[in-house]
Amino acid sequence: MNEITPLTVANGEFYPGQSGVVELVAGQLPSGSPVSIKAHVFRSYKPGPTLLFLAGVHGDEINGVEILRRGLKLKLFDSLTAGTAVVVPLLNVYGFDNFRRDVPDGKDVNRSFPGSATGSLASRVAYGLSKNLLAHCDLAVDFHTGGRGVFNFPQIRYSPDDEGALQAAEQFAPPVLLAARAPVKSLRRSALKSLGLSVLTYEGGENLRYDGRSISEGMAGIRRLLEAREMLAPVNGIDERQPIRITNSSWVRAGRAGLFQWTKRSGFPVRKGEPIGTIFDPHGVRPNKRILAPRNGFIIGHNNAALVGQGDALFHIGY
Ligand SMILES: [Zn+2]
Repeated sequence: MNEITPLTVANGEFYPGQSGVVELVAGQLPSGSPVSIKAHVFRSYKPGPTLLFLAGVHGDEINGVEILRRGLKLKLFDSLTAGTAVVVPLLNVYGFDNFRRDVPDGKDVNRSFPGSATGSLASRVAYGLSKNLLAHCDLAVDFHTGGRGVFNFPQIRYSPDDEGALQAAEQFAPPVLLAARAPVKSLRRSALKSLGLSVLTYEGGENLRYDGRSISEGMAGIRRLLEAREMLAPVNGIDERQPIRITNSSWVRAGRAGLFQWTKRSGFPVRKGEPIGTIFDPHGVRPNKRILAPRNGFIIGHNNAALVGQGDALFHIGY
């Protein structure tokens, strides 16, 4: 019977009712210090799905790390009524130690899936996850933030052709649901293609900064998802949240370089022609350039940079 077989994660074996932390070896630093990734495994006595909660694929995206750290601290996963939760709060240890998105050679782990045991460092980190964890999972939630000063309003991105992901995204019920194809060789795209595994990409806040709303929405979403899958007993009754659904989005970019200030930010609807920000000449000579919303929509991301170059992404507007 399936329920008495151990679940093997790296060098750990977990029988029903067993929990613990395993280390996935992820190489070493030039000094020889070993680098390891921690995976917390919580297995209920009752059979059920295996869900992976993953953060820090991009090493400078801290909100997700904090969502899972807080979830572990508050024992969110300790009383599962069915199934298994695997929690990896920080995958890209290399990037995290350098306050950077990528691994030290500049490669992006989330563009390196499924990875290879003999490839670049990013590819090896991706391979370690694919080999040790993804094959055991029925669903994964991958926590991110905007990159380099871009703030993302709390949202789940799911692949438009993935019915299972849409259902899971609705159960997570973040403020915004965005149907969007994932980049080539990203975890979400690769896992669906090679393993048929649905991955939800949670986006909330900005790199290297905490955002309280994004953290609490992430934790609430995990709880809703676990409750919907009957892996946790409901605590607050039925949550009737209706997310804003977005199937198309595009970026408004800077027509010229200069000092940038937004006047409208993520989390608000906009009307076509409405002023949403301004670019100023730092010398105070040229006239200001107003930025207008190109069409009716909802701002799902905005740039917090004070200084922008021509073509920089300023507002991510969903329709
Ligand atoms: Zn990211």
